[in-house]
Amino acid sequence: MKNPKVNVDIKKVIANAKEVVNLAAEKGIEVVGVTKSVCANLEVAKALLKGGVVGLADSRINNLLYLRENLKLERVPLMLLRTPMLSEVEQVVKYVDVSLNSELKIVKALNEVAREQELLHKVILMVDVGDRREGVMPDNVMKIVEEVLQLTNIKLVGIGTNLACFGGVLPSDENMKVLIELREKINEEFDENLKIISGGNSSSLPRLKERGLPPEINQLRVGETILLGRNVTNREPFPNTFQDSFLLEAEIIELKEKPAQSEGRIGQNAFGEKEISSKKGIRKRAILAVGRQDVFFKGLTPLDKGVKIESASSDHLIVDLTGYRKDTTIGDSLKFELNYAALLRAMTSPYVKVDYN
Ligand SMILES: *Cc1c(COP(=O)(O)O)cnc(C)c1O
Repeated sequence: MKNPKVNVDIKKVIANAKEVVNLAAEKGIEVVGVTKSVCANLEVAKALLKGGVVGLADSRINNLLYLRENLKLERVPLMLLRTPMLSEVEQVVKYVDVSLNSELKIVKALNEVAREQELLHKVILMVDVGDRREGVMPDNVMKIVEEVLQLTNIKLVGIGTNLACFGGVLPSDENMKVLIELREKINEEFDENLKIISGGNSSSLPRLKERGLPPEINQLRVGETILLGRNVTNREPFPNTFQDSFLLEAEIIELKEKPAQSEGRIGQNAFGEKEISSKKGIRKRAILAVGRQDVFFKGLTPLDKGVKIESASSDHLIVDLTGYRKDTTIGDSLKFELNYAALLRAMTSPYVKVDYN
């Protein structure tokens, strides 16, 4: 199987990682590299480590297990980003160094397993400072922390938050202050020394670059800006990074002149949508052997401006080549940049090969 494939430019991934790691290091912040959007691809994981990330993070225990087994020689700290399922606590304790948590019941289950295995499992307690995805509401943090601190085989190493994922809420002085004050309160009231404030993901980087984050924030968990070189608050290029570390290549399997407009009574397509083309006349059209089963096609941008994506079904991508100047023939490949959703699906699809250069 040669196509479709994602071409990964490992040097560009390393360069992007270095840029983000150095930017953060100047402000005393460590960067954990997030691998979930590349399905924990081993070469990409190694590139992140070469770029200087202090550990690797993923939402899926399978991915972390894969990294643990394949990065054998290096004892890389691994972080589970999604609060563990009750049904996976045993694996979490066994393979993961630190997990992000927001449910006491689950932390207690982790403690039970850690006690049986005579291990110490590290936990970062997630606080919802406004985005409304995961996290304990700030008013309930002290009560939960008190209970967590009594667990014999759990080490609470810090608190954290996630932003810009569900509500699109951006980091601000106010929401960072909530975390900083909570940490202070925990350390004072319980005579603790919580080290980590894990302040967010890629969405914190534009602010970090422009005006800095409060000095207490000392960890960020970064995926997209390293991998795709994007400022995730507006999807513009992030300064001094590459946007084309990952390129999708797909092969032309049909190339014909066809009327732009469909013919016949119009109903819904296979995905419940009504597709009406705005184009007129006879167009030069190609079908590429890639589809929604492989990639989120709306997240593709053709490298050549003359290529226009029309639509996709499960396994056909229809492109208009009327404005494409190069000679093309059956068997040629076309290249596309990917956005986050497209990368996520392409790297997860068993039908998409991964190549490196
Ligand atoms: C996915 C995820 C990240 C990384 O987000 P990016 O936008 O890719 O940097 C960080 N933290 C958590 C909890 C996540 O789920």
